[in-house]
Amino acid sequence: MILYGKDGLKRKLDDIAAKGRLPHAVMFSGNEGCGRKTLARYTAQLFLCENRACGECTACRNIEHDNHPDVIFVKRECGGKYVMENFRGILSGTVIKPNNGDIKVYVFEDCDTMLPQHQNALLKIIEEPPAHLRFVFTCENTSVIPETVMSRVTEFEVPDMDTASCAQCLADGGMDRKRAEELSLTFSGNVAKCLAALDDDNAEMKLIEAARAAAAAIGCRDGFGLAAALAGQTGRAEFARVIDCLADILRGSLAVKYGSGSELFCKKESEKIAAEFSENEIVNMLDAVFELEKNEIYNLNLALSGVYLTSRIF
Ligand SMILES: [Zn+2]
Repeated sequence: MILYGKDGLKRKLDDIAAKGRLPHAVMFSGNEGCGRKTLARYTAQLFLCENRACGECTACRNIEHDNHPDVIFVKRECGGKYVMENFRGILSGTVIKPNNGDIKVYVFEDCDTMLPQHQNALLKIIEEPPAHLRFVFTCENTSVIPETVMSRVTEFEVPDMDTASCAQCLADGGMDRKRAEELSLTFSGNVAKCLAALDDDNAEMKLIEAARAAAAAIGCRDGFGLAAALAGQTGRAEFARVIDCLADILRGSLAVKYGSGSELFCKKESEKIAAEFSENEIVNMLDAVFELEKNEIYNLNLALSGVYLTSRIF
């Protein structure tokens, strides 16, 4: 299994496993799309493979394809919520012995989205787990998870993926290399966002492209180009999304000014604007965008909104 951009964390886990000290409950925390689920699978391999995640044996291959009878992924239902009925059923299954070996691994995804009653039910099992159980949790934000749970797990912070690793991951998945690099730069190395943008007939990508065109026009002090990029949006929701992306790019320009813009959404456009305009000028541009958003001027007249923003920026 390739853990893109996670060499340091992989070495750490391998070291701990080699010493036979892999904790029975592991928590991977990090931003959505940073590779937490892949790490959860890798950890399940470390628990179940006789050669510590060799990647070759039947156990490793089954885990990689989510097809191992002793690795149970507990996911949110549609609508993004855990359902208590299902949750109880899952937890009652923890007393059943493993199918193949001595160990059974439960992977609970996004456990910061669980309701307190789920977390309490979970706590009961991780307090005194049967000897055959191991747990892997993933979450974005550990601050909403009770201390009683956190004190029983070993947390590993998962770093965001760098853009090169993200592009490699997408290309290995069959995407055209140039497209993979473009997307990776657009979404600052977030694989989940790259893939989500490709759904929905590329509708989201088209809006992002429009925002990039608008930002590129700003970077070249091209008022007509900016007006044209905004005029291309025929729906209010689409216009609002383009404006939203443009705000992100402008915020990125400020990050560049402050020297913290290493992994930015649409980095090239943000850097160009940062090079061309002063900090004050960029703040004024952001003000204009916020004003447009706050008053939802685009609900009144789209064409007018585009012209208004162009006149405020130049
Ligand atoms: Zn193996």
